[in-house]
Amino acid sequence: MKTSLAIPVTKTQSSRLSQTDFSNLVFGKTISDHMFVADYKNGEWTDLRIEPYAPLDLSPSNATLHYGQSIFEGLKAYRNDAGEILVFRADANWKRMNESAERMCMPSLPEEVFMDGLTQLVELDKDWVPSAKGASLYIRPFMFAMDEYIGVKPSDTYKFIIFTCPVGNYYSKPVSVKVETKFTRANEGGTGAAKTAGNYAASLYPALQAQKAGYDQLLWTDGKSHSKIEESGTMNVMFKINGKIITAPIDGGTILKGITRNSVIQLANDWNEELEERFLTVTELKEALEAGTLEEAFGTGTAATIAHIFKINIDGTDYILPEKSENAFSHRVLAALDGIKYGTEADPHEWIIKI
Ligand code: PMP
Repeated sequence: MKTSLAIPVTKTQSSRLSQTDFSNLVFGKTISDHMFVADYKNGEWTDLRIEPYAPLDLSPSNATLHYGQSIFEGLKAYRNDAGEILVFRADANWKRMNESAERMCMPSLPEEVFMDGLTQLVELDKDWVPSAKGASLYIRPFMFAMDEYIGVKPSDTYKFIIFTCPVGNYYSKPVSVKVETKFTRANEGGTGAAKTAGNYAASLYPALQAQKAGYDQLLWTDGKSHSKIEESGTMNVMFKINGKIITAPIDGGTILKGITRNSVIQLANDWNEELEERFLTVTELKEALEAGTLEEAFGTGTAATIAHIFKINIDGTDYILPEKSENAFSHRVLAALDGIKYGTEADPHEWIIKI
């Protein structure tokens, strides 16, 4: 891939690569050697650079620490059989980051700052992209306020950083979920569609309660009536009922616009699958489970791509989903997405950039 910005690089004097056990990677714990950094001052992004990954120097009055003006993204790069590095849909992450920035009163990022920073960082640290089957390099771009000021107002200064983490084969074992009817992840008019730190902080307590009750994840419902399914943990969620795939619409501002969700929808359209973007109600879900018409339920997200759901708890009752056939939509779409990501299949929608 051709890049245009000349980003200065300070290389690490002590690479951690040779001490890294690639057969034993814990998600998010192993960080590659370098990071891309840009500073926002006086209304523009300046001082773009790649430097060794290192702790930051932060003032105790840093505005982010107090009021949470902080947004992030998550995407992955994959190594193909020829050893080349393929990045999946980074442009979609750039667009979503700017949507989050607008909602949180943060500055937008020019496309070349995001894309050139990302591609040049991944190129420099390409030896960190694992080659084991199913492994990948997780890429974490994020932006946060840098003003040293504890008045409540949008910060005037920000930092944008990208770092990367090699991650192992993230096969998601089938998960159990509990329909949440007390706590709320997002409300109309709130920040649910922004990938902002506070949403994740607010979800920890309800998720912990669900885990204590024996479930892996929550199925979030709408904040007003708790009658409509929204999403699950850090995934969007899809149901196949009577041959039709149903997933919540994302234009209401309460649901994160998942890039995996969008990719699954595009493939379903390519394959002429019946797919509806509409809210599934908890009542409909219960009826489909009782009638045996719920064929599949699965989460979609960057971490696992597809996470199959095997058990759903509604109002204290556990429902076990039927075994899926080999030919189930969620199996086929996972295989198709993996094929595109690892370069073993054609890429009809031009989702991949090769580094
Ligand atoms: N919903 C939430 C709340 C998330 O954090 C994520 C992960 N980014 C998703 C859905 C899935 O989005 P994506 O497919 O872009 O990873």
